[in-house]
Amino acid sequence: MSKIINEKKSGWLKKDVNNEKINKYCDNYIDFLNNSKTERDASKTILKVLEKNGFKDLNSLNSISKGDKVYFVNRGKTIYAAEIGNDIINGFNLIGAHIDSPRLDLKPNPLYEDINLALFKTHYYGGIKKYQWTTIPLALHGVIVKPNGKTIDICIGENEKDPIFTITDLLPHLAQEQYEKTIGKAISGEDLNVLVGSIPNKDDSVKENIMSLLNEKYKIDEMDFYSSELELVPAFKARSLGFDKSMVAAYGQDDKVCAFDTLMALTSSNKNSKTKIAIFADKEEIGSMGNTGMSSDTFDYFINELLNKKGENAPGAINKAYCNSMMLSADVDGGIDPNYQSVSEKNNASQIGYGVELNKYTGSRGKYDASDASAEFVAKIRNIFESNKIKYQVSELGKVDVGGGGTIAYILANKGLDVIDCGVPVISMHSPYEVTSKFDIYEAYKAYKSFYEAK
Ligand code: MN
Ligand code: MN
Repeated sequence: MSKIINEKKSGWLKKDVNNEKINKYCDNYIDFLNNSKTERDASKTILKVLEKNGFKDLNSLNSISKGDKVYFVNRGKTIYAAEIGNDIINGFNLIGAHIDSPRLDLKPNPLYEDINLALFKTHYYGGIKKYQWTTIPLALHGVIVKPNGKTIDICIGENEKDPIFTITDLLPHLAQEQYEKTIGKAISGEDLNVLVGSIPNKDDSVKENIMSLLNEKYKIDEMDFYSSELELVPAFKARSLGFDKSMVAAYGQDDKVCAFDTLMALTSSNKNSKTKIAIFADKEEIGSMGNTGMSSDTFDYFINELLNKKGENAPGAINKAYCNSMMLSADVDGGIDPNYQSVSEKNNASQIGYGVELNKYTGSRGKYDASDASAEFVAKIRNIFESNKIKYQVSELGKVDVGGGGTIAYILANKGLDVIDCGVPVISMHSPYEVTSKFDIYEAYKAYKSFYEAK
């Protein structure tokens, strides 16, 4: 009986589970998260790991050959990396994750004063539940670029001695009117104003006092906010969760968990005759648009450069390479939440601790906007995972007609690759403090490694 029925069980019951290995791996993951809260920060961390593992800037090489390891950094926010196999044109093994996460961006004219307090206006980025972003400590990350091209890096709120920032909320005693509103309307986009100062200067201006402090420290004036990208992210650190320390709670695990697993798999997998490629993309959370999003032609440019420098390029070569390639779209899935089970259909929901998750398709309603992997390709992936004893689950996001979502999968599928979504289930996805299972984090790494090693 047990042989023909798919008995779903916790990964922690798996025979070869090695808690020591899992914990050590996840300690590194927690470090990675604490240094990679924004796409710019994540790019820097990833670049360091790639260089440490012998990857070289593709732009600095005139030609490449089998065994070479190269990277391409796009505007400090997206990275592509490759380990060259026998060829590129006959197909490569691609894993693609994204390194941007929902957050609050500063508006171009952020600083203002009201009732003698200084505040920043923000514009949220990606899908957030606005009420979750009030009354938590926030850190400010990003860059200010002066008209002369000088870049000033900003990171305030991560060091224990740094100040933090916060968005205030109404005390319950006076919140009767707020309580009447629906949860989506209780806090509006224009309510997400961040408290940044309260001491006035001699002319009784708090705004001017804050601007003088910034001018003193960073040599900037108010107009320099025009040419800045400043992001507010939760200031708290990634931590182990639970008495058994079996989970990770952290900001930005969508999708830094799959980005970290991809990076570790790329840099630790055995040599393969197939070329291995990794994507660490920006702008996934707002539709993958723009020159650092996956809809941009920069990925084609990267593949063309690989073909050029390997001496394989010819008319149509890139299309041939795409149509011969396979991809894991490495992104998270919403895991079933014990408090909100009604939105999931239990037979087809992923569960934290039950292994790496495959979404055969994404999309919403009648599979609109879905990237749907073929049965043949799912079988191929099952074969890779099963022969490497990877514990995996196949799921979809939520009940039919309850909602839905997408990843970068369709963009690469449109180019002709075989693609399936494959990642880690997350609870409290898109919140300031997302939850994952350490078992799944490590199992996804093993899954990605086996995929990179597949012929
Ligand atoms: Mn994601
Ligand atoms: Mn997301």
